Amino acid sequence: MPSGPMRNLVTGGAGFLGSHLVDRLMQAGEEVLCLDNTFTGRKANVRQWWDHPRFEFIRHDVTEPIKLEVDRIWHLACPASPIHYQTNPVKTAKTSFLGTYNMLGLARRVKARLLLASTSEVYGDPDVHPQLESYRGCVNPIGIRACYDEGKRIAETLCFDYQRMHGSEIRIARIFNTYGPRMLADDGRVVSNFIVQALRGEPITLYGDGSQSRSFCYVDDLVEGLIRLMNGTSTGPINLGNPHEFTIRQLAEQVRARINPELPLIEKPLPADDPRQRQPDIVLAQRALGWQPQVSLEQGLEPTIAWFQELLG
Ligand code: NAD
Ligand code: UDP
Repeated sequence: MPSGPMRNLVTGGAGFLGSHLVDRLMQAGEEVLCLDNTFTGRKANVRQWWDHPRFEFIRHDVTEPIKLEVDRIWHLACPASPIHYQTNPVKTAKTSFLGTYNMLGLARRVKARLLLASTSEVYGDPDVHPQLESYRGCVNPIGIRACYDEGKRIAETLCFDYQRMHGSEIRIARIFNTYGPRMLADDGRVVSNFIVQALRGEPITLYGDGSQSRSFCYVDDLVEGLIRLMNGTSTGPINLGNPHEFTIRQLAEQVRARINPELPLIEKPLPADDPRQRQPDIVLAQRALGWQPQVSLEQGLEPTIAWFQELLG
C-alpha cells in the first residue's frame, strides 16, 4: 500500500456518474485525476474541484494509450445513453475495447487495481428475470445496441483475461439504470426525458405502450456500491442497481403527478432491441459488499427534478 492519499484515475470523470464519484473521492481526502474527452461529460460537473491541489483534469481519449502513476483506476469512460452511444457506434465499440485495453495496460504497468463500469446491457433483452450474475444474456450482436452491449461484454472479457494472464486486480460492476442530478437534459434517457418534458409542459413520450420495465437506482446509492466494490475483495461481476421494478408507464405517471398532472402521455415507436424487462438480483452485492440501495424512486426524483428545474431556469 502506498503512503499518503490514494491516487485515483477516474476515466469519464466529467460525466454523470463519474463526477459524483469524483466528489466522494475528493471528500474522502484522496487524489483524483479526472480523465475525460468531454463527449458527453462537462467540465462544469467537476468545476467545484478545479483549483484543488488534490485534483487534476486531463483531457484525453481512452482509445489512445496514456502513461500515469496511479493506485486505482475507475474506468467509466463510455457514453451511456442510447442516443449518444448510437451517434457513432464504431467509436463506441472502440471506446469499450481499446479504452479498456489501454486502461488494463496502464493498470498492469503501475500495478493499479481497475474497476470496470459494466452494465446490465450485457444481459441484453433477458429471458431470465430478475437477472443474476450467472445469467449469460441474450444480446443481438448485430443490432443497433450491440456497439454498447457487445462493447461492454468484450471489456469484461479483457478484464478477466488480464487477470488470468497477468494477475491483474480487477473489479467489475454491472450497473443497472441509474439517475440523478447532472444527467444531461438532451441525453435521451428515460428519467431525464420525462422530467424535462414535464417541466417544459410537453407531452410525455412512451416508447411502445410503456409496459416495458426498468429498475431505477439513485446515483448516491450507486456510487456507494462502486466504492465498496473497489475497496472489497470480491472481483465480480456484481450487479449494482435498485431491485424495485417499474413499468415505463408507471414512471411517466409518477413524474407527471409530481410536476404537471394534466400532461398527456403519448406513444412513440419502440426502438429496436429495446429490452422488455430489467431487474437486478442484488443478493451477491448484499452478501459480498453489505450493500443495498437506500433511496426510493420517490425520494430520488425530488433532487433530480430540482436539478432540472435549476438547469432549465
Ligand atoms: P456519461 O455519458 O454521463 O459519462 C461518460 C463519460 O465518459 C463522459 O464524461 C464522456 O465524455 C466520457 N467519455 C466517453 N467516451 C470517452 C472516451 N473515448 N475517452 C474519454 N472519455 C470518454 O454516462 P454515465 O451515466 O455517467 O455512465 C458512466 C459509465 O457507467 C459508463 O461506462 C456507462 O456505460 C456505465 N453505466 C451507466 C449506467 C447509467 O444508468 N448511468 C448504467 C450502466 C452502465
Ligand atoms: N423510453 C421511453 N421514452 C423516452 C425515453 C425512453 O419510453 O422518452 C423507454 C425506452 O424505450 C426504454 C426505457 O424507457 O424502454 C429506458 O430507456 P433508457 O434509454 O433510459 O435506458 P435503457 O433502454 O438503456 O435501459
